[in-house]
Amino acid sequence: MSKYEVNEMYDAHAEGELHLPSLLTHLGERSLYDAVSQCSRCGYCETVCPTYMLTGREPISARGRNQLTRMIMEGRLDGAGAAAESLDTCLLCGACSEACFARVPTADIVLEGRRAALGPAPRFIPVFISRLMLERPGLFGFLLKLGALARRTGLPRLAGKLGFFRILGLGPLEKAESEAPRMPLTFLSEKLAADPELAAGKDDAPRAWAYFAPCGPNYLFTEVGEATVALLKRFLGRGVFFHNSCCGLLAYNYGDIRHARDFARRNIEKYEELKGLHGEIGVIGDCSSCVAFMKTYEQLFTAEPEWRNRAAAFSAAVRDAIEAVPPAAMTHASKEALAEAGRITYHDSCRACHGQGIRKEPREALRTLAGKRFTELPESDWCCGGAGAYSFTQPEMSERILRRKTANIASVRADTVAVGATSCLLQINAGLRRDYPSAKAVHYTQLAEKLTRPAA
Ligand code: SF4
Ligand code: SF4
Repeated sequence: MSKYEVNEMYDAHAEGELHLPSLLTHLGERSLYDAVSQCSRCGYCETVCPTYMLTGREPISARGRNQLTRMIMEGRLDGAGAAAESLDTCLLCGACSEACFARVPTADIVLEGRRAALGPAPRFIPVFISRLMLERPGLFGFLLKLGALARRTGLPRLAGKLGFFRILGLGPLEKAESEAPRMPLTFLSEKLAADPELAAGKDDAPRAWAYFAPCGPNYLFTEVGEATVALLKRFLGRGVFFHNSCCGLLAYNYGDIRHARDFARRNIEKYEELKGLHGEIGVIGDCSSCVAFMKTYEQLFTAEPEWRNRAAAFSAAVRDAIEAVPPAAMTHASKEALAEAGRITYHDSCRACHGQGIRKEPREALRTLAGKRFTELPESDWCCGGAGAYSFTQPEMSERILRRKTANIASVRADTVAVGATSCLLQINAGLRRDYPSAKAVHYTQLAEKLTRPAA
């Protein structure tokens, strides 16, 4: 990274075009430079940073990442090499911030550093996908279904085996093709739109909740969203389907902050429309990464006072599905479902525990429902290495982190691992199939729904 680009980073930061104008930190609203300067280099966060603990290398610790970003901003670092490795290998898990006395927002700082490195040309594939989702959602859905049909022919797998992906420099696509579950031909949003109980505006009676379908459950794990909706209906009463766009996290994480804002505006407007129809209403999603991001929408709009207030009101209504149903409401579990689940444990998805501080609710519920069948997982709040697209962009580091997770699961002889994010589902199940095939990861709502399902 040249000094010229560093100056560009300052300019763009001030304009709020390529960067966030300011960060909402634990110590108040701060410029990026002030936020990164909050790091006193104490090193207290080192022992919770998975990339540091596995390598012992300072540049890939939270402290190292903060110092390198600060050096970039001060124009004291020439060449992208050292900073690129440091920034690209961060899982954005947030464990460091939770351990840090000043709550230095290292993940946000790393993202700002990455945006500076990318400049006005963010990563092509994720940005192309998010633009398609934003501007041509129908075409995006059609292409996904085409891809699902093509997979069923077995041709992509054959192409992978013949090495075509690697020849074309598309190694991550080969990994995605081999690890992704069978893709559905009917999306969750299509199923929910056909459910008359979930239609908004049929009457003006209050509704307790609006289900927000994150992209994982919508396009890949439709069974997760169906379980969440069944659970919400059972314990929270009447609700509606949000008919949402993507939350914008994909665009946000890959350098396209303008489109992240566009997604956020759409969802905020939709929320306001539902509130107008049904009064105060909770927005409940079942992927902790997306939910945690929606709880921080305000940070996208610090330079736009009107949108900032609207974003804050929206975020205040957002709930993670793993916290939405009070544990005290779930008192009885079906014996058959318990026997099928076997020994149960819980993996804290990063954006649930570090991002939202949710630890107690799912444990309380599982302890009540499963009794002695529930066992704590060692290092349960260590990232699994999934981290969105991390397992595809940083396969070696991701693999090392995953092996530690599957070894921990094997150490407590778990049969069922409950998780809160779809990237954890994909990653942990890929690891378990190889390392400990008697166990399976499921979303927390799938497990809770099955355990509390009334006898037919
Ligand atoms: S991020 Fe926080 S805990 Fe880590 S070195 Fe900086 S001040 Fe210390
Ligand atoms: S976000 Fe996670 S991987 Fe990144 S520096 Fe913090 S603890 Fe380490």
